[in-house]
Amino acid sequence: MTQRRGLLIILSSPSGAGKSTLARRLMAWDPAIRFSVSATTRAPRPGEVDGTDYVFTAESQFKRMVAEGDMLEHAHVFGNFYGSPRAPVQDAIDNGSDVLFDIDWQGAQQISNSTLQEHVLSIFLLPPSIRELRRRLIERGQDSEEIIAKRMQRSWDEISHWASYHYVLVNDDLDITEEKLKTIVTAERLRRSQQPGLTEHVRKLQSEFEEGK
Ligand code: ADP
Ligand code: 5GP
Repeated sequence: MTQRRGLLIILSSPSGAGKSTLARRLMAWDPAIRFSVSATTRAPRPGEVDGTDYVFTAESQFKRMVAEGDMLEHAHVFGNFYGSPRAPVQDAIDNGSDVLFDIDWQGAQQISNSTLQEHVLSIFLLPPSIRELRRRLIERGQDSEEIIAKRMQRSWDEISHWASYHYVLVNDDLDITEEKLKTIVTAERLRRSQQPGLTEHVRKLQSEFEEGK
């Protein structure tokens, strides 16, 4: 049967709820899943690798990419620009590979309203509590107090969009959330629209049926 179509797996959550951690675990589980490396104008955090975590881009270059239609979606978050370059996503779809996006609700909305909407699988992560969300941001130890306060302030704006996602997971126990995420992806790969070979297969079944085989 013809190979399946790729899913566009979108993970969103308020900052600190566990997107990057779960994205890493999902890709360790299936290395064939491609990560959509976003372009951003924010400065790299310690340990972040250019071209792997983000493509760190000057604002002028970012704006040029948007103007030339090279971004599948883009948004302004925490005073910086973020966007998903279009070319790698198209390439993945053409090759039947799944693409994983760690993007905010604005990006999720843009992709969900695009011509690719049929292949979107959107998942929202909620923290077990606001106290725990703050604890995780502090524990991550990568942002200043001021940036953490800014992220906490914006968390309600992000959470308020939870109901536009296909699936919502409360990321309490990390291992349990990971298992649920893998279950969702496994099931969604079987969505009828993701299996282009089915029509041909059923046609074959029909002719066998009619031939009385
Ligand atoms: P995001 O990408 O959504 O901003 P991260 O994946 O960076 O969030 O997670 C923020 C911090 O919380 C990290 O230190 C991570 O190890 C931790 N974390 C993620 N999920 C859990 C969980 N279920 N329980 C406890 N800590 C978690
Ligand atoms: P961070 O600075 O913590 O890496 O990301 C801040 C926020 O921007 C997160 O909610 C993250 O999901 C979002 N983000 C990262 N890349 C993109 C992108 O390409 N597009 C959009 N719309 N949001 C992004």
